[in-house]
Amino acid sequence: MSNDPDRTADRERMLKTIRDLFRLTAAETGLGEAPPAVIEALRGVPRHRFVPPQEQGLAYADMALPIGMGQTISQPYMVALMTALLGVSPDARVLEVGTGCGYQTAVLAELVAQVYSLEVVRPLAEDAARRLAGLGYGNVEVRHGDGHGGWAAQAPFDGILVTAAAPRVPMPLVRQLAPGANLVIPVARGASQVLSVLSREAAGDLHRRDVIPVAFVPMVRT
Ligand code: SAH
Repeated sequence: MSNDPDRTADRERMLKTIRDLFRLTAAETGLGEAPPAVIEALRGVPRHRFVPPQEQGLAYADMALPIGMGQTISQPYMVALMTALLGVSPDARVLEVGTGCGYQTAVLAELVAQVYSLEVVRPLAEDAARRLAGLGYGNVEVRHGDGHGGWAAQAPFDGILVTAAAPRVPMPLVRQLAPGANLVIPVARGASQVLSVLSREAAGDLHRRDVIPVAFVPMVRT
């Protein structure tokens, strides 16, 4: 308790900001309200355990923060939005590309049955795996590797969420979508980026919707 102060009030303020932002962006996202299950998932994750010591004061600010190695922990609103756009049910198996510190991974793990996550920077993958296990997330598998190829051995997925921006949508990820599943991915568009949702309809057809401008680190190719 003394090492881990209660941040409940901070977390509730963060959730209120997220709910407000969902209402403000409803026209762009098509989502009027933050889904209650997504809010519950964010409520369950101690974000201060995912940010470095010097950022503890800002752990529940609705901001992206530096986590070292040139990488960031995503803005909580963006984590909530991407999770909501994924549109997955509790029995889903989900692939994440870009584990980073594992915050989005933990939010997904609160919500779905099984999460597979790929991270291209080995020390980040190792730290995140250790952190998630330490917090008791038994339904997460983190692997070091380039996410462009997805995770064929575990495909198809009921949802795929990418947290780094690609110049174009990697086709292996599209192929690893189960019927009815969504791929949520930031895609570079000129000098800026747009958050896109690719949906594989039950009949197999693909549908793409561009949702909102975003700013993610670039997806690295190895
Ligand atoms: N999901 C994180 C945000 C991660 S930032 C969160 O919840 O805060 C994006 C991450 O994608 C970085 O850690 C970066 O190293 C990783 N990344 C970049 N290119 C990648 C690739 N090709 N495959 C897997 N991970 C990649």
